[in-house]
Amino acid sequence: MSKLSKLLERLRLEDDARLVAPEKAGSDCVVSDNPATGEPLMAVRLDSAEDLEKSIQRCVAVAAQWKQLPAPQRGEIVRRIGEAFREAKDDLGELVSLECGKIRAEGLGEVQECIDIADFSVGLSRQLYGLTMHSERPSHRMYEQWHPLGTIGCITAFNFPAAVWAWNAMIAGVCGNATLWKPSLLTPLVAIACHKIAARVMKKQELFKPSSGDARDVFSLIIGTDSDVAERMVADRRLPLISATGSCRMGRRVGQVVAGRLGRTLLELGGNNAIIVMPDADLKLVERAVLFGAVGTAGQRCTTTRRLILHESIADKFLEQLVKHYGRVTIGDPLEKATLMGPLISPRSRQDMRAAIERAQQEGCHVLCGGIPGMDRWDKTPGYFVEPTILRAPQGKVPAVCCEETFAPILFALTVKNLDEAIALQNGVDQGLSSAIFTDSVRSAERFLSHAGSDCGIANVNLGTSGAEIGGAFGGEKDTGGGRESGSDSWKQYMRRQTCTINWGTDLPLAQGITFGTS
Ligand code: NAD
Repeated sequence: MSKLSKLLERLRLEDDARLVAPEKAGSDCVVSDNPATGEPLMAVRLDSAEDLEKSIQRCVAVAAQWKQLPAPQRGEIVRRIGEAFREAKDDLGELVSLECGKIRAEGLGEVQECIDIADFSVGLSRQLYGLTMHSERPSHRMYEQWHPLGTIGCITAFNFPAAVWAWNAMIAGVCGNATLWKPSLLTPLVAIACHKIAARVMKKQELFKPSSGDARDVFSLIIGTDSDVAERMVADRRLPLISATGSCRMGRRVGQVVAGRLGRTLLELGGNNAIIVMPDADLKLVERAVLFGAVGTAGQRCTTTRRLILHESIADKFLEQLVKHYGRVTIGDPLEKATLMGPLISPRSRQDMRAAIERAQQEGCHVLCGGIPGMDRWDKTPGYFVEPTILRAPQGKVPAVCCEETFAPILFALTVKNLDEAIALQNGVDQGLSSAIFTDSVRSAERFLSHAGSDCGIANVNLGTSGAEIGGAFGGEKDTGGGRESGSDSWKQYMRRQTCTINWGTDLPLAQGITFGTS
């Protein structure tokens, strides 16, 4: 029995009706590759537009009953889902590494995020608070309350194949919604595994037994192409909220279609994140933050550090050191303990990286390490490996290529004369997700965090751009889409607010003191 078969067996996926041996895959299947070998792992049968219609109907029906269960009981069910993820952590983490190419520590970290957000949601299930307001009218009471939306359409990217679904589905679940999940076709196995974990809990629990339909439909999964499934979901009015994570290109399309039907979106799109390094920074911390931020996950995080904005007085020396660290990054099988960087997700991603490096060179950038020779060194190795690359931008020039997000481990180094210039450079791109400054000056740090500082959704001082905690609201501004998910009060996006006024007096006073007719 192969390693993969054993893993699928431990995850209790071996009999899943969707799975097809790769050699038997037909045109109705998508084949999931192992990016570290380029070999097929398994094929997955695709759902059709008709399957989508049935799924939406089932979700809508179950959501109408799920919302009647008291929120703390919904929280109790989510608590059990979190427990099931705890039990499956090692195996699911390994599957994330196999299918998505993340190193083992990051695969496990991804499952930990699912567990953390389930825990967070359990507490939240007793804290879906509304405010009370003092009415301007005598003998009136005003308050706001929050009701579930119905069924949430959740579209996710390949690079967080489990966690982004969990961020949405666990919170949407305690808020009283069903979630219909459309994962990336690059990572369908992880999606099936996550869905199965939740479905088993839903089947076994005794708290929610819908009179019609199936409790498992609260956490529903649909795996299909963009034309058959994703675009139809986005256009469907029965899904009042579309939460979509992916490229800005995708977000622009989804945003327009959902706005056209006056629905709601929660968009979590591309980033182009920068670290600013001031002369008074602790450079040892910067080195570690840049390594994790720019090389971690092979540069395939929305929060990956893509631009390094260095004060000119420290730039040369710092880059010299950084290049040495880059030279020590072990690249290879993501499941090997010593590996720090696994492969890119696909041959297409490799081509995109190559094209970006070529463009950068045409725009005057110098390769400090990696580059095209670094890519060539991995050309004959199976899998989609590359070398992490640092490109130094020409003095006083911002190459156009570094204003775009290339989803690969390319770091652009830029130099500035002062903090104002650094902030202008950091904000001078279309995306606005994550940002960081390294400095020991309170004045510089506070300036960076002020209204005249970073324009991003995430702004950090003395830590990198990558690896946010689930407790804060996660998301970014401008072309990153404006969405906020995960912690803080992000739950409000999965609910509708109702303002309620109760008149307990014997008169009918009007607001703003208006008199209408005789009183
Ligand atoms: P992608 O845009 O290619 O695909 C993302 C998802 O959108 C997939 O499920 C895909 O099938 C779907 N999709 C694509 N076109 C669609 C359409 N017209 N209508 C409906 N759905 C559509 O992105 P990817 O390559 O999977 O992921 C990488 C991108 O995701 C990067 O840009 C990265 O920055 C971004 N990302 C953002 C966040 C965040 O929280 N801001 C998190 C993870 C990834």
